[in-house]
Amino acid sequence: MYSDVLLHIAGKWRPAENQRCLPVTNPATAEKIGAVACASQNDLDEALAASARGFAIWRATSAFDRAKIMRKAADILRSRVEDIARLMTLEEGKPLAESRIETLAAADIVDWFAEEGRRAYGRVIPARSAGVYQLVIKEPVGPVAAFTPWNFPINQIVRKLSAALAAGCSIIVKAPEETPASPAELIRAFVDAGLPCGVVGLVFGVPSQISEYLIPHPIIRKVTFTGSTLVGKKLAALAGAHMKRVTMELGGHAPVIVFDDADVEVAAKQISGAKFRNAGQVCVAPTRFLVQKNVYERFVERFVHAVKEIRVGNGLDDGVNMGPLANERRVTAMESLVADAVQKGAKIRTGGVRIGNKGNFFQPTVITSVDRTMRMMMEEPFGPLAMVLPFGDFDEAIAEANRLEYGLAAYAYTRSAKTANAVAACVETGMITINHLGLALPEAPFGGVKDSGYGSEGGVEGLDAYLTPKFVSQAGI
Ligand code: NAD
Repeated sequence: MYSDVLLHIAGKWRPAENQRCLPVTNPATAEKIGAVACASQNDLDEALAASARGFAIWRATSAFDRAKIMRKAADILRSRVEDIARLMTLEEGKPLAESRIETLAAADIVDWFAEEGRRAYGRVIPARSAGVYQLVIKEPVGPVAAFTPWNFPINQIVRKLSAALAAGCSIIVKAPEETPASPAELIRAFVDAGLPCGVVGLVFGVPSQISEYLIPHPIIRKVTFTGSTLVGKKLAALAGAHMKRVTMELGGHAPVIVFDDADVEVAAKQISGAKFRNAGQVCVAPTRFLVQKNVYERFVERFVHAVKEIRVGNGLDDGVNMGPLANERRVTAMESLVADAVQKGAKIRTGGVRIGNKGNFFQPTVITSVDRTMRMMMEEPFGPLAMVLPFGDFDEAIAEANRLEYGLAAYAYTRSAKTANAVAACVETGMITINHLGLALPEAPFGGVKDSGYGSEGGVEGLDAYLTPKFVSQAGI
């Protein structure tokens, strides 16, 4: 059922002109399940030329008509959810239920941006002279180059794709080579819904070669990337050198602050689910659990209990809550982070080791007695590791929460409105969710500060990222 994945260039599904391919592996079995076409420079040139033609057509299409095609694509996605979710689980490893949610959530994102594109209002500025009209018109920024990672193969693309299309831009997506089939199905839904030729292109290949070619290219006017801070900084520098608009969604190391007055049972249950979703390979994954001293032991006990209930296995099997890590690199990274922490005195409360010798399975892991000398307290683990540490007062918690250069998401639990307001004001992140899990909705901004990047992928801010204001001042003749 897993067919080889093709490029989509100038309205055609086709292999690379030189027939080059890369293998695709199932992370649950370590078996090769297919191959993905690997674009050459000639393929990229064709995709760029098509994108320029597609932009001319799409920007001239009314927002009303663009929305009709986009909403049709959303319905197609919904109608194909079972097939797409299976492909996603086969290539990425996450449980089937998570793959279904991701696919259906993508359809909702497409619908939301389709509608919001119809409200890309400009404004009229009162003029200083009679008979003068001063207008601000929002225009699409131009052809977009989007680079997306493997952890949410559809979601990471759809937020960029929907906003770009709603704004009237064309877009070339460089999707992840490790998880290519579900992204291809996302693009197929748009093609089948009637998107004009060239408006969307899909390429795979050697990531650095593609980004180094597309970003400086004069046809590309906007660059959007989701991935690690290290790579994001390189791409942002390249985009800056060529004066391209940029959105960067980078790494995180999210603090969870549990105050003495929190509902500890609710906090432990909710946050354990959030931590181990997609095996922790989530940029907003809760990572540093800061728990106030009076409830520390109780929280650790409840949290460890909830984590021990997680069933790890092949994402296609019933009852599995956590699949394998998406690639072997992440298992090696988990082993190395755990070994470093244990050697420096950390205590493993549950988990800590790889499971079996086939596939990339790693135990959901809770670690205490951690300190700032340990690598896991500095680097984004991007895997199923939770570090829990006690704190005394509010200021101590905030100092630890803000210690790292990351600033993507934060979580807090408290029954005090005063503490909730204070924590929301003091935490240096782009997003915070308090007493519940409320991030990543189509209608809400999603993005970070500091080394977690800049720009936003949801809400009206997400649409604005693909629009540019033009000022028109017009006098009567
Ligand atoms: P990586 O840094 O090599 O790659 C991350 C992503 O960036 C991949 O999709 C890759 O194809 C892409 N990429 C890498 N170099 C690129 C380049 N020069 N041009 C364009 N794209 C490029 O690391 P990895 O081993 O794949 O993932 C591990 C790390 O990446 C994690 O520790 C995490 O920090 C980060 N990551 C973040 C997210 C996120 O949602 N923010 C998603 C996946 C990975």
